[in-house]
Amino acid sequence: MNNVIRRLILQEFEIYCEKPATELRYSSDFELLISVILSAQVTDKQVNIVTKKLFKIASTPMQILNLGYFKLKLLIKSLGLYNKKTLYIINLCKILQNKYKGKIPRTQKTLLSLPGVGKKTANIILNTIFYKNYIAVDRHVFRVCNRTGFVTGCSTDVIEKKLMHHVPIKYILRIHNWFVLHGRYICKARKPKCHVCIINKWCKYFKNIKC
Ligand code: SF4
Repeated sequence: MNNVIRRLILQEFEIYCEKPATELRYSSDFELLISVILSAQVTDKQVNIVTKKLFKIASTPMQILNLGYFKLKLLIKSLGLYNKKTLYIINLCKILQNKYKGKIPRTQKTLLSLPGVGKKTANIILNTIFYKNYIAVDRHVFRVCNRTGFVTGCSTDVIEKKLMHHVPIKYILRIHNWFVLHGRYICKARKPKCHVCIINKWCKYFKNIKC
């Protein structure tokens, strides 16, 4: 795919939804960070159900530490990988509290040094909270990119690199949420809804199934 087509696709998303946003519910930087960590391998809807209760009780690193390991585990135990996530969050809160005065650090390198924070989580935080030019590649973004041919690659790192190279700066803060929402509701893993897809005329996958 060339950059002219890429731009047409991004313009189409912009017309359809100018300001895409995450479906995770949060009311502070810290709450978003916790929600993203909790969202690994579960849906945003499931996370929102859990955090609605959790954030009422504890919504700062100190409050989570006061809650303690066992109560936190109990509160998030309906989510997959809850044992690991509980440990990550407790250790994360200790570091945030002791080293960063309860604040979220602003660089990718520092974020990546925190427990439970991988590249995807770090980039979401940098992009959403600090408006920095990073693109998070999750399974939806990965699938939409490869299927459409927007950019192709066999790993999320390759896709991220290519997106950073080809996506015009004015779209960098928005492309993650556009592709996530598109992958979640239209370009689904099992049955993509190609006939109602707003970008089907440029899509490699759609061209092939029409043949
Ligand atoms: S045409 Fe189909 S495969 Fe292509 S982006 Fe749309 S839903 Fe996905």
